[in-house]
Amino acid sequence: MCGIVGYIGEKNSVPILINGLKRLEYRGYDSAGLGILTNSHSVVIKNKGKVSLLEERVEKSNLSGKVGIGHTRWATHGVPNETNAHPHYNSSKNLFVIHNGIIENFRTLKKGLEKLGYEFQTETDSEVLPHLIDSFLKKGYPLFKAVRLALTEVEGTYGIAVIYENEPDKIVAARKGSPLVIGLGDNENFVASDVSAILAHTKQVIYLEDGELVEVYKDKFIVKTISDAEIEKEVHEISMTLDEIDKGGFSHFMLKEIMEQPETINNSMRGRILYDKGTAILGGLTDVLGRLVNSKRIIITACGTSWHAGLVGEYMFEQFCRIPTEVEYASEFRYRNPIINQDDAILFISQSGETADTLAALREAKLKGALVLGICNVVGSSIARETMAGVYTHAGPEIGVASTKAFTSQLVVLSLITLLVARRKNMSQAEGISIAEELMALPDKINKILKLNDQIEQIASEFKDANNFLYLGRGYNFPVALEGALKLKEISYIHAEGYPAAEMKHGPIALIDENMPVVFIAPKDSTYDKIISNIEEVKARGGRIIAIATDNDNGIDELVDYTIKVPSTIKMLMPILTVIPLQLLAYQIAVKKGLNVDQPRNLAKSVTVE
Ligand code: GLU
Repeated sequence: MCGIVGYIGEKNSVPILINGLKRLEYRGYDSAGLGILTNSHSVVIKNKGKVSLLEERVEKSNLSGKVGIGHTRWATHGVPNETNAHPHYNSSKNLFVIHNGIIENFRTLKKGLEKLGYEFQTETDSEVLPHLIDSFLKKGYPLFKAVRLALTEVEGTYGIAVIYENEPDKIVAARKGSPLVIGLGDNENFVASDVSAILAHTKQVIYLEDGELVEVYKDKFIVKTISDAEIEKEVHEISMTLDEIDKGGFSHFMLKEIMEQPETINNSMRGRILYDKGTAILGGLTDVLGRLVNSKRIIITACGTSWHAGLVGEYMFEQFCRIPTEVEYASEFRYRNPIINQDDAILFISQSGETADTLAALREAKLKGALVLGICNVVGSSIARETMAGVYTHAGPEIGVASTKAFTSQLVVLSLITLLVARRKNMSQAEGISIAEELMALPDKINKILKLNDQIEQIASEFKDANNFLYLGRGYNFPVALEGALKLKEISYIHAEGYPAAEMKHGPIALIDENMPVVFIAPKDSTYDKIISNIEEVKARGGRIIAIATDNDNGIDELVDYTIKVPSTIKMLMPILTVIPLQLLAYQIAVKKGLNVDQPRNLAKSVTVE
C-alpha cells in the first residue's frame, strides 16, 4: 500500500533512498525506515513519522553504503511506531525485508516459525517474511532461492525487497498484487513500488508481474517466476511526467481512487470471508463478538460520507441481524445527552479515524459504558485506539478530498460484520454462502461499471451547467442518493439534494421542471415499480432524468433521458455498485467545469475541528 525503494551500485545509497522516499511521501504514510549494507556490516534505522526525521538521523550518523532498501509504511497490522516500521529483520539482524501489502496467513506462519524457535518483535504481518526466509537460508539455500521458497508458503499480497549481509551483491524483490518496478542505470540498478521514486535517476524500467521475482545486481538482473522458470522481460522507457505518475496515469487522484475500487474492495475482504461456512472472520471483533451479537441496539455514529455508509449499515443490521439500529450524526449525538444503555453497541465510522466530532461522540459513549466499536481506514488512528474493538477497511491511503474508495470499503466491512453477526443469530449457512458469493463477485462487477466512464462523461457534458440536481432512491439506495448528491456538491459546487424517492411528492416535486435534472437509483428490486411511478411523476413535469438501472432492465430506457446500466447483485450490496456511476458523474461534471477536483474549496480531507 505504501512505498518501497531500493538501490545497488557504486554510489552511496542513503541520499538516493531518502529522496525516493520523499517522492512517495505525499501518499500518506505513518513511518519510514532504511536497511543499508555498509562495507563492514548492516544497519537498520527507522522511525515513526516523517521521512525528514529519518533524514536528520542518517545525516547525524554519517550512514553510508552502496546497497540499501527504504520503506514508507501505511500500517495494516500493528500500530504505527518505530518497532513496527520496516525493514524487518531476522534474529541475526543480517537479513532485511521491506513489504507492501498484507500477508493473509501470517498467524499460521508465525505459529510454525515460533515452534522452530523464531522470536517475533513486532505486531506486523510482515515480520514473518525475514524469519521465513531465514529458515530457508538455514537449510543452505542461497538468498534468491530462499526468498522464492518462502513465498510459496505465503498467502496474500506483497511487493517486497530483501537484502542480506552474506550476499551483499544483490537485492531480491518480488511481487504479488502490489506493484514493483526495476529501474536500470549505468552500473547501478533500482527497485521501487512506483517509478516516481527513481525517475530522477533512470527512465529505463522493467515492470514485474504478479508471481515474479527478480535478483538485481548492480550490472544485471535475473527474473524468475515463483515456480522457478526464468523469463525475459521487456525494458520500457518512461515518458510520463512526475505528476502523471503520482496519479497512476490518471488526471486526478479522485479518478485514480474511483478506478482502484475493484482492488480496494478485494483488500477489504481479503482473508475475511469463510466461504464454506457462509460467514466472515474479523479478528478485531473476536473479543467482543458475544457482546455485539447480544446487544439490544446498535447506534452508528459518523459524519459526511461515513454517515451515509452508516445508513446502509442500518438496513443491513436490521434486515439480517434483527438488531434495532439507529444512525446519528456524531455532532448531534454528542450534544444531545443521548440515552445510552450498557447493552448498546455503538459503532463509529471514520475514514481518517481522526474526525473530531466522531471522536468526541466516542468519548461520550465510552463514558456511559456502551460497547464502542470502530470502522476506520487509518491504522492506529485516534478512533481506532480509543474504541474497544473494530475493523479496518484496508482501502489504502485516500488522497482526493471527496471520499470514494473509502466509502465502498466501509460498505464491504459493514456487510462482513452483518454476515458475522447474522450467522450467530438466524441466518442459515445457505444464505450466508450466497452473500459471500455475491461479495466475492463485486470486484468484477465494478470493473464492468468503470468501463462506462466514457458514457458518463457524455452525460456530464449534457448536465454540467445545471444549477440544481435531485437524487432519488429507495431502501438501500436512499443513502446512495444522499451520497451521490454529496459528491456532486463537494466537487462541482452544484446544489444537489438526495431524498427517499417516495418523499418527492411531499415537497421537492414543487421544484421539478426542465431545469432540474433528477437522478434515479432504480435497480430492479422489490421497490422497482414504485420507483417507476416516481419517474413518471417527474416526466409529467418536464424533469430530465438520468437513471441508474440494472442491466437486466430493458424497459426503463424509453422512460428516461439517460440510463446507466450496472450489473445486478443482492439488495444489501447494490449500493456498492450503484454509487460508482454517481462518483464518476460528479467527477466528470467537476472536470468539465474546470474545478479543482482533488482539493475542492473550503473542504479538508480529515475534519479535525468540531
Ligand atoms: N502489512 C504491512 C504492515 O502493516 C505493510 C503495510 C504497507 O503496505 O505499508 O506493516
